Amino acid sequence: MVVALLASSRRELTPFVREILMPGGPDAVPKISKAHSRFALRKGESKIHRWGIYAKEDIPARRRVIEYTGLKIGLAEVRRRQIRPNLYLFVLTDQLAIDGAIGGSGAEYINHSCSPNVYANVRRGHIWLVSLRKIEAGEELLLDYRIRNSARKIECHCGSPACRGFLNLPE
Ligand SMILES: [Zn+2]
Repeated sequence: MVVALLASSRRELTPFVREILMPGGPDAVPKISKAHSRFALRKGESKIHRWGIYAKEDIPARRRVIEYTGLKIGLAEVRRRQIRPNLYLFVLTDQLAIDGAIGGSGAEYINHSCSPNVYANVRRGHIWLVSLRKIEAGEELLLDYRIRNSARKIECHCGSPACRGFLNLPE
């Protein structure tokens, strides 16, 4: 409700509302950047959580699939953004995170699973999601978020037999 009201006056939004409150709201729909994808992908409803990203073609193992892009932010900003309903944050180091909700390639919509089929490879400041095994056309892309040092424990409903119960890594 609040988000709908805010959206109607988009031009008057403060950066706080535009960059921190609105992204990841209930109206957010994935847009996949072809420029950042090496394979044909599509968005789709997910059994795990809202939207997911799916392979539209077979992807061999150990291939770059899509780059995770977004706004570079510091950890103070990460803490500020915790109030979002969906975070879309990729924490790179103790100092640096990428906010996929701002300038994201669509990779920020890839859901967490405790049995992932892609992993994040960080090289020269770029985050590539790389296939862990062959991914068949129609499969949802799944990433283990491996959340560490977070005050918030997030329950997992990935449905994998190997589910550890939380998106967080065990302490
Ligand atoms: Zn799980």
